[in-house]
Amino acid sequence: MKEHNNQYTAYFELRKTIDKISEKLSGKHRPHMQCRKGCDLCCMDYSILPIEFHYIRNQLQKEGFKKSTPEREENNNTCIFLSNNTCTIYNHRPVICRTHGLPLLYTNEDYEWELSTCELNFRQFDYENFTPENTFPQDKFNSKLFMLNKEFINELGEKKYDEFELIPLRNLAKQL
Ligand code: SF4
Repeated sequence: MKEHNNQYTAYFELRKTIDKISEKLSGKHRPHMQCRKGCDLCCMDYSILPIEFHYIRNQLQKEGFKKSTPEREENNNTCIFLSNNTCTIYNHRPVICRTHGLPLLYTNEDYEWELSTCELNFRQFDYENFTPENTFPQDKFNSKLFMLNKEFINELGEKKYDEFELIPLRNLAKQL
């Protein structure tokens, strides 16, 4: 069985960089953000790339994590790891969860710049004042993650996943 140490190290480093930028942006925008412990508006039933899925599963298994969240109805659209409005895997949460609430800058399907923010945040903020310096460059990090994932699935060598495949986070809970 392959260890994927290089890709896992690169993934961990990427996450650290994302955390640093997110922390800086959160500090900068604090007066305009309602994000706080107990707010779970962003915690939806996400799907993630295989490299994240395998890495997070390994970490949680190493720590002996046991899912304590109750079974949910199939059509429940909240994250399986949310319990009492709190993330039960916070330290290991995937990349998508690490920029929750921030102004995210990305290109849409028509190759135009688009900005996405939480509906609770930036209500009194003039969107004209968003710049590349005070927004999170989502495309840049998504591309890096995509390339890392590509290396990871190639190394698996079993044609287990295709490069655009995403795995629901809720499947991870079934493996713990
Ligand atoms: S992993 Fe945690 S932060 Fe991410 S959506 Fe689930 S509960 Fe929320």
